[in-house]
Amino acid sequence: MSLDKELLQGQGMTSLRTRQRLIERLTEKGISDVRVLEAMRDSPRHLFLDEALSTRAYEDLALPIGYQQTISQPYIVARMTEALVSGDRLAEVPLKKTLEIGTGCGYQTYLLAIFSKKVTSIERIEPLQDKAKKTLKQLKVNNVEFMVDDGNKLGDQKYDAILSAAAPLEIPQFLKEKLNVGGKLIIPVGDSNKQILTLIKRTSKDIFIEEKLEEVLFVPLLKGVVS
Ligand code: SAH
Repeated sequence: MSLDKELLQGQGMTSLRTRQRLIERLTEKGISDVRVLEAMRDSPRHLFLDEALSTRAYEDLALPIGYQQTISQPYIVARMTEALVSGDRLAEVPLKKTLEIGTGCGYQTYLLAIFSKKVTSIERIEPLQDKAKKTLKQLKVNNVEFMVDDGNKLGDQKYDAILSAAAPLEIPQFLKEKLNVGGKLIIPVGDSNKQILTLIKRTSKDIFIEEKLEEVLFVPLLKGVVS
């Protein structure tokens, strides 16, 4: 086995067997889209973490990634990804243009890149995104455009899918307006006491359908850039 493959597949606590157990757990918790389950199984989450934490990569836990941020819990990554891709159960690459707010360590970005033609990922903490960039390059992901910026300020582009990994107090109207008709936005909404993972579908120019999925805990959507 080449070194690359060994690194990708992991050993011991990061082995395929350990990952299979995580997939069983995700299935028990209600994730049912086989494409998402397979992508989760094949995603090397251990490579997104510092070595000291990598043996815990396949536990269903959020873990620290520095700068007071966390890598999202696998179940939540699977749930959000599933919510975005579920409209098109047959396509292998169901999403065209996807926007992610909060690159973090890049783990969710990696999943989005599998299911999208193109991903734009925005992060306000530059050194975090630099690290994510390196990891995704090592994994030969080449359909992600990175931007260090405040996700509260976006250009005129529109997207088919938007995922926010940080929670605003209310659903930002400007993010809804960034959706193409037929597009979906998934976002945690609320303060540090109570947040609800919310899915918004734009069914026409003026109609947005909102579905509350479940209670979650994300870091807050903050303002400004940290370099
Ligand atoms: N899915 C990521 C989660 C990272 S935590 C992972 O698994 O690593 C959420 C991220 O959102 C943090 O890195 C935080 O810095 C970022 N964030 C918070 N507010 C932001 C904003 N206004 N614009 C861009 N990124 C933001």
